[in-house]
Amino acid sequence: MNVSVEEGMRLDRLTTIGTGGVARAFSRPTTVVELEQLVAWAAEHALEVVVIGLGSNVLAPDEGVDALVVHLEGELARAEADGVVLRAGGGASNAVCLHRARAAELGGLEFACAIPGTAGGGVRMNAGAYGSDWAAILARALVVSAEGSGWLTAAELGLEYRRSTLRPGQVVAEVEYVLAPRPAAEIKARVAELVAQRKATQPTNKRTFGSVFKNPPGDLGAGRMLELCRLKGHRIGGAMVSPRHANFIENAGDATTADCLALIAEARRRAREQFGVDLEQEVVYWGLPPEGD
Ligand SMILES: Cc1cc2nc3c(=O)[nH]c(=O)nc-3n(C[C@H](O)[C@H](O)[C@H](O)COP(=O)(O)OP(=O)(O)OC[C@H]3O[C@@H](n4cnc5c(N)ncnc54)[C@H](O)[C@@H]3O)c2cc1C
Repeated sequence: MNVSVEEGMRLDRLTTIGTGGVARAFSRPTTVVELEQLVAWAAEHALEVVVIGLGSNVLAPDEGVDALVVHLEGELARAEADGVVLRAGGGASNAVCLHRARAAELGGLEFACAIPGTAGGGVRMNAGAYGSDWAAILARALVVSAEGSGWLTAAELGLEYRRSTLRPGQVVAEVEYVLAPRPAAEIKARVAELVAQRKATQPTNKRTFGSVFKNPPGDLGAGRMLELCRLKGHRIGGAMVSPRHANFIENAGDATTADCLALIAEARRRAREQFGVDLEQEVVYWGLPPEGD
């Protein structure tokens, strides 16, 4: 195998909330071939393969992860335009993709300007904002797993509101977005507008993992519901419900994943008690569900 495997990587360095223990094994493949070799190596060692993108919607257990955690780099983190198609590695950040799209005068990815993730993380989560999402732009994705590699269309990936049918062990190695011609100046102006909107309503420059819960059906969003439950500023250990937006948890200093999970359980309890609503978690927890959940 041409790619090395490290031990002892601390996941709190790789998650935006800044929590998480050590990964049993960690690697940074830079090509599809290296990724395929790693997936085969993990299968031989009976290790699950877990991808970390920018770690912006992940809670990793404090006790660590008994898996091979991969972070896609090199060719797997690049993006380039070809006509109206933007080809990107699964590890390409949304910022890089948006930059390439703007340089090629291709619009459609502007909504992702405030989503601090990668192309692959966007597929897995069907990330979205401002009325658009991955389902609206994704043509197909190259998925690598122990069963082999192959391209899946957006329909085959089952993209729905913050959900896909990707299973553990399936790694999005490449994506193709279909965009539409748009002048660079218009893209720039739209991005500036969306970033300003974001700054006015959500915590910025704080360690968070984005939305805690998906919005339930109906008019009352999860954030407003949790605000009405008087959760803003509520703190357990080092984790605090954002005083800015109640559907965000901030690392207020020395938070652990256990603190975040306790706060999530408390928020869910209050929403159930006050509104009779079972909030569905958006952030992905890489451990077993806490007892009683
Ligand atoms: C400040 C802030 C604002 C946010 N705003 C939004 C928003 O407006 N809309 C929104 O939808 N989300 C939002 N998020 C959440 C997050 O940015 C998105 O879900 C993003 O798409 C996650 O991408 P990632 O690369 O960081 O994935 P990670 O957080 O690293 O991983 C998320 C899940 O995807 C899996 N995954 C990651 N990469 C791959 C891959 N290549 N192949 C297969 N699986 C993979 C991981 O294993 C994990 O299960 C926000 C987060 C923050 C911190």
